[in-house]
Amino acid sequence: MGYREISLQLSTDYHEEELRKGIEKELGIKEFSYQIENKSLDARKKDRIHWLIRVSVLSEEIQGNAPLLPPSLSVPYRKTSKKAVVVGSGPAGFFAAFVLQKAGIHTTIIERGAEVHKRAEGIREFEKTGVFNPVSNYAFGEGGAGTFSDGKLTSRTKHISKERQFILSSYIQAGAPAEIAYMAHPHLGSDNLRIIVRNLREEFLNIGGRILFETILEDLKIKDGNVIEAIIPSGGIAADYVIIAPGHSAYETYRMLIRRGVRFRTKNFALGSRLEHPQKIINKAQWGRESLPGVKAAEYRLTSRGDGKLPVYTFCMCPGGTIVPAAAYQDTNIVNGMSLYQRDGKFANAACVAGVHPDKLIGREVTPEEALDWLENLERNFYQYSDGFQAPFSSIQDFMKRKGPSKMVESSYPLGLKPASLWDLLPLQVSSSIREGLKDFSRKIKGFETGSIMGLESKTSSPIQAQREKNSRCVGFENLYIVGEGSGCSGGIISSGADGIKAAMHIIESGM
Ligand SMILES: Cc1cc2nc3c(=O)[nH]c(=O)nc-3n(C[C@H](O)[C@H](O)[C@H](O)COP(=O)(O)OP(=O)(O)OC[C@H]3O[C@@H](n4cnc5c(N)ncnc54)[C@H](O)[C@@H]3O)c2cc1C
Repeated sequence: MGYREISLQLSTDYHEEELRKGIEKELGIKEFSYQIENKSLDARKKDRIHWLIRVSVLSEEIQGNAPLLPPSLSVPYRKTSKKAVVVGSGPAGFFAAFVLQKAGIHTTIIERGAEVHKRAEGIREFEKTGVFNPVSNYAFGEGGAGTFSDGKLTSRTKHISKERQFILSSYIQAGAPAEIAYMAHPHLGSDNLRIIVRNLREEFLNIGGRILFETILEDLKIKDGNVIEAIIPSGGIAADYVIIAPGHSAYETYRMLIRRGVRFRTKNFALGSRLEHPQKIINKAQWGRESLPGVKAAEYRLTSRGDGKLPVYTFCMCPGGTIVPAAAYQDTNIVNGMSLYQRDGKFANAACVAGVHPDKLIGREVTPEEALDWLENLERNFYQYSDGFQAPFSSIQDFMKRKGPSKMVESSYPLGLKPASLWDLLPLQVSSSIREGLKDFSRKIKGFETGSIMGLESKTSSPIQAQREKNSRCVGFENLYIVGEGSGCSGGIISSGADGIKAAMHIIESGM
């Protein structure tokens, strides 16, 4: 059986038969099987937008050997009495726990939030009534911060191909569309994620794992550099290994860790607001028309030097999506973005943030606790401005001119907008850079200036980072690992999941 890889250009609304015909024509063969390896949209020429598809073909009629497959993640199983506690059921915590349990280590996940179905109900109620729910919100609950998201699965982190492949195949087995294996910009959508998260939980329980929902890790009992117990409200859970994957919203968990001697340092992070446009405007600018058969909705990713002081960029774009109230605590007000698999909502949204170091913002060298206090205070200021969860907002044009209040606009944000001098609510350095960035973006995307900008985006990355050994273990500890976004060493679903897997594999490979 011979093997060839070829690239084909097909119209955006091609049918499978056309793909088969394309292979037949290109290779001059009749009998074959094929697999899509990569599929990306080429929209460089607006009058010739097409899919660029790389396929691998197997046929008796061709010659050539299949390339060696890259090694996949293999998790060795061993019967053992060792126990692990994993805190957090986001991608980092879940995949760490999943791998540990597969290796035979008796693993318990502690999750402060509710299981996904109950969590979805809590979020629905919050968006209807504005009454915040501490265990069912966009930050806390089963599946972590990314469950109610766009579920973008892209990552620029290097050296995680084995882990990435493990995550993608686990998602596919749990019900994700098979296309995530080959799309250049794969995404799951919140509707799929809810099902996937539930199915993965069932798989974890089936192989012997345990999950305690609505159970917060309050403290750690430590002896001679070893965590001997994870303290939860009902008592202590003994463990040989403790992996903490709390995301970067859990302020009291960070503070407890610092109190218990876990070392953190401050680092660059990003701050800003969320942009919203009618999706039609983005489609028109990117494709030259308002819709394109066979493609859901146009995306953008923009960068600017801002005012030359802080870099400005768009992040976590959600085509056809919704801006959501993503607060983790009652008296804070922040926003984020999500979308469903079909990405068929009326609006496009994206974070627009400036990269900055906490020392620069605060004007002196600060400790990790001070950086957290400062950020939490900023989230509270937004809450106080709105006296709740309305999103302070301005039109992009008014933001650029520092002029307000802006006229009310239609928005996907469920809890209402409140006109604001948003540039004054954000730190001055951040808003000055974003203002210049927006001018730049308005030159790049036609109609960009007609959109709106709203809320506080404070969760694109963490301002602090755990000090870890090469094997992900916390400096000064024998059996404590901090992973995922809360460690400040990853960002996003894939890189956080990969970070959790790496820590689990270090434990397994160390001989348990
Ligand atoms: C609305 C939204 C949309 C997003 N969209 C995308 C996207 O499209 N693509 C992408 O790659 N990323 C996206 N992200 C970011 C992504 O969700 C995170 O990068 C990722 O979830 C981080 O994984 P994690 O496991 O490190 O932390 P998290 O997912 O934050 O999980 C941490 C978990 O720990 C729990 N926890 C915290 N403290 C404790 C404690 N003391 N005791 C017990 N449990 C605790 C929390 O309840 C939470 O469930 C989005 C985030 C949000 C909020």
